[in-house]
Amino acid sequence: MTDERGPSGGSIVVLNAGSSSIKFAAFGSNKGAAGVPERLLHGEIDGIGRSARLVAWGHDGTSLSGEAVVAAEAEASPPGHAQALRLLFEWLEGRLPGRNVWGVAHRVVHGGEHFIGPVRVTPEVLAQLDALSPLAPLHQPHNLAAIRVIAALEPGLPQVACFDTAFHARQDWVAQAYALPRRIRDAGVRRYGFHGLSYEYIAGVLPSHLGARADARVVVAHLGNGASMCALRERRSIATTMGFTALDGLMMGTRCGNLDPGVVMYLASEMHLGPAEIEKLLYQESGLLGVSEISADMRALEASDDPRARAAIDLFVHCIACQLGGLAAALGGLDALVFTAGIGEHSATVRRRVCESAAWLGVELDGAANQAHATRISTAGSRVSAWVIPTNEELMLAQHAQAVLACGKTG
Ligand code: ADP
Repeated sequence: MTDERGPSGGSIVVLNAGSSSIKFAAFGSNKGAAGVPERLLHGEIDGIGRSARLVAWGHDGTSLSGEAVVAAEAEASPPGHAQALRLLFEWLEGRLPGRNVWGVAHRVVHGGEHFIGPVRVTPEVLAQLDALSPLAPLHQPHNLAAIRVIAALEPGLPQVACFDTAFHARQDWVAQAYALPRRIRDAGVRRYGFHGLSYEYIAGVLPSHLGARADARVVVAHLGNGASMCALRERRSIATTMGFTALDGLMMGTRCGNLDPGVVMYLASEMHLGPAEIEKLLYQESGLLGVSEISADMRALEASDDPRARAAIDLFVHCIACQLGGLAAALGGLDALVFTAGIGEHSATVRRRVCESAAWLGVELDGAANQAHATRISTAGSRVSAWVIPTNEELMLAQHAQAVLACGKTG
């Protein structure tokens, strides 16, 4: 299904490959009414490693996935990434205009110091990205596994890696440094920041909501399963809550966020946990799940009347409130606050509580607008405006891939 003819007629497939699921979408080369590539379809294969299932929807939201569920269930053994991607590419055949794919764009969590923009994947690039896997053990190996599988399945198909770290690459030295000896910094131990594709998208659409204020002091709160916040000035990242890994900053679904490094030493020396056990504890057993002992899912916690669920939400909001103060300090004040991602876009409760805790900064919530999930959720007189803007990392991936492939850029 490879097409080397270029953008005329070729689709871009975008992939976000995780440990047990692969989110995908396909974008056409034609620009839609909004002046951006049109999404033709999107979906997800979940249950990888157990019993994979493909669900997908067309551009108008109609379900497309009936046959693929059957196909996946017909597999003799539980499908891994390779089988899941083979299923996806077979399924895509005939569903894309001209039946061709111009290239594949991958969300890759860590670009390290070297990759500060999207890049066409070569064997050398892949080797360099492999070396970064220890910095993002939950994500990077799965992102790269998908690239390898597609290279084997469709050797001629161009692949582009787009990095969650890249948007933060031009921050000032002080925003990136830890107060560690220089030799440690020189070995690459510094703050990188993540969720860059989401922040880049939000930065791009801010003017359509905020007008000239888009270039002022803005904090974006990306609150999903992974959660972070980013301070923008002139729509560029000047500080962010995640650091060397995607573990730092806010409390998340299963990740702990900010932690005294002394805790890690204590877990090792006094509680006798090994590196793998500590990694599992901090990445997969902490956050909303660890504190509530109920769920990592905000919807489940909001629906629960268990005091542990309430405590988990209290701590989540407290972390956001404290980090917001820190980012406002980095900006020298605050003009706008933007909520995005699953919790940011859908939880009126979390938004209300964050805005209430930010009253000292000048945020005045419009309760009815917030409850109605309006785009602007602050009062007309609020000194700091507050917004709900859905993110679109997929679109960023598609646009980056088109740009890289159009100019033939490699690593
Ligand atoms: P990911 O980081 O996996 O992309 P998402 O951006 O999809 O995550 O966000 C997932 C989070 O959003 C989950 O905690 C989920 O409970 C929460 N969420 C989604 N819809 C709602 C809702 N209506 N109310 C509260 N939380 C929600």
